[in-house]
Amino acid sequence: MSVFAPSFQLKRRRILVAGGAGFLGGHLCEKLLGDGHLVTCLDNFQTGRLENIEHLLCNPRFTLIRHDIVNPLPGIGDADQVYNLACAASPPKYQQDPIHTFKTNIFGAIHLLEYAKEQNATILQSSTSEVYGDPKISPQPETYLGNVNTVGPRSCYDEGKRAVETLFYEYRTQHGLNTRIARIFNTYGPRMSPSDGRVVSNFVVQALAGKDVTVYGDGSQTRSFCYISDMIEGLMALMAAPSGQGQPVNLGNPTEFTILELAQTVIAQLNSTSKLKFVALPVDDPMQRKPDISRARDLLEWAPQVALAEGLAETIPYFAAHAAHKLVAE
Ligand code: UDP
Repeated sequence: MSVFAPSFQLKRRRILVAGGAGFLGGHLCEKLLGDGHLVTCLDNFQTGRLENIEHLLCNPRFTLIRHDIVNPLPGIGDADQVYNLACAASPPKYQQDPIHTFKTNIFGAIHLLEYAKEQNATILQSSTSEVYGDPKISPQPETYLGNVNTVGPRSCYDEGKRAVETLFYEYRTQHGLNTRIARIFNTYGPRMSPSDGRVVSNFVVQALAGKDVTVYGDGSQTRSFCYISDMIEGLMALMAAPSGQGQPVNLGNPTEFTILELAQTVIAQLNSTSKLKFVALPVDDPMQRKPDISRARDLLEWAPQVALAEGLAETIPYFAAHAAHKLVAE
């Protein structure tokens, strides 16, 4: 089932999506193909999943290449646009091989930036709210420089993404490359991996199975949850924005919830018998996350449209069909 309405596009483009078999990547490939473009998906299937894209494989405008962007790129033909969505994004996943995570960010970005330079393509980097670390201000505007630990379990991801922003800035300054940086806040929706370890997938899978819902810490930490279709529209709007848009742009839903509120919402929405179970808060877990999206509103005329209850109502059936039996976190 697609979460998108088709949209009309004037020009057929050749688009490379690195990380195209991931949760965001699969939806992006689907939407771009729906708009008539030629799409090449690169993925190493570390966290990407064939089931996210297998419905696209029969489309003659879709090409899948299994490749890890840590290594130099294979021959992939020409492209007008490059989206870099390639990196595990869930803390338990990116912490499994932190050095590989760091390399994915740095080497991967360099390989894609060099390719975009050769092709004179516009390139968009998926950065993250993690560049703000454990923020001392809320909401977080792009001008906030962050509060990030360089030596902790999240550093491989956070500092990797920060360094990639620097690379994008320098390729733009030194080589005149047309770059875009999206700072993506927590995103959820159908086709998230049930075993991803993220809070929405964990809570829905647990509540569906009637198991304890695992709240880390006391649940007073906050996150702001953006539905997948809103995020994909935001990424595409940023890619399509006039060429001056090299500055980072926050993309996320500014409505903030405590993790306790999320747990209670999921349990209530499912009418589940699950109880809350409080477990230790992971090291360096940020206490708050709420994007200031003024820049995205001004530059892209973009704002999220889907409220949490509505997005959960779309997401729950996916997990019910794909994951009720696969319990993630006991
Ligand atoms: N979290 C939780 N229970 C879980 C998984 C996550 O309470 O089963 C918390 C986690 O500690 C964090 C928040 O939910 O405070 C969001 O976690 P997630 O891994 O989804 O995203 P991130 O921390 O990268 O924002």
